[in-house]
Amino acid sequence: MIIDLFAIVSNPGIDKEFELDISDMTFESMMGTFKATKASPFRIKINNNAGKSIRINTEGEIHFTVPCDRCLKDCDIAIDLDFENEFGLQNDRLVIEELDEPEYIEGLNLNTDQLVYDEILVNWPMKVLCKEDCKGICNKCGKNLNEGTCDCDRTVVDPRMAAIQDVFNKFKEV
Ligand SMILES: [Zn+2]
Ligand SMILES: [Zn+2]
Repeated sequence: MIIDLFAIVSNPGIDKEFELDISDMTFESMMGTFKATKASPFRIKINNNAGKSIRINTEGEIHFTVPCDRCLKDCDIAIDLDFENEFGLQNDRLVIEELDEPEYIEGLNLNTDQLVYDEILVNWPMKVLCKEDCKGICNKCGKNLNEGTCDCDRTVVDPRMAAIQDVFNKFKEV
């Protein structure tokens, strides 16, 4: 949705509220393509602060199903979309530093889809784990190690450690 900010920018003191249903959105990024599983209504409040600035407040939460980084099991993640920003006002125009220009603002148009997208991207978890101590999957047989162990030898020898071990073995031989 595009919100035309003209009526807000030119009316000191005015408050406007918008509500968006984002429960069927699809989020596409470098991490992959994810369809939302559920979402609370996304609320945007825009306030003209006495003709001096425009305040934007948002509220919302959206859920996605994302595979665990270690065992690939589906996990539900909730992304918080509460956010606020303020732009100065001058002659009915938003004062935005050229370098800071958010992608969701173009002139006096606020692109809500872009705003939601940016917030999901910023709040996307760095790491997704089905549980804190997820044991992952065996890199030899692929068994989910949370469900039990396997008989594979998974001793990973760090090449640097291996070199030290060699030295020790040499000493032993002497
Ligand atoms: Zn896991
Ligand atoms: Zn195994």
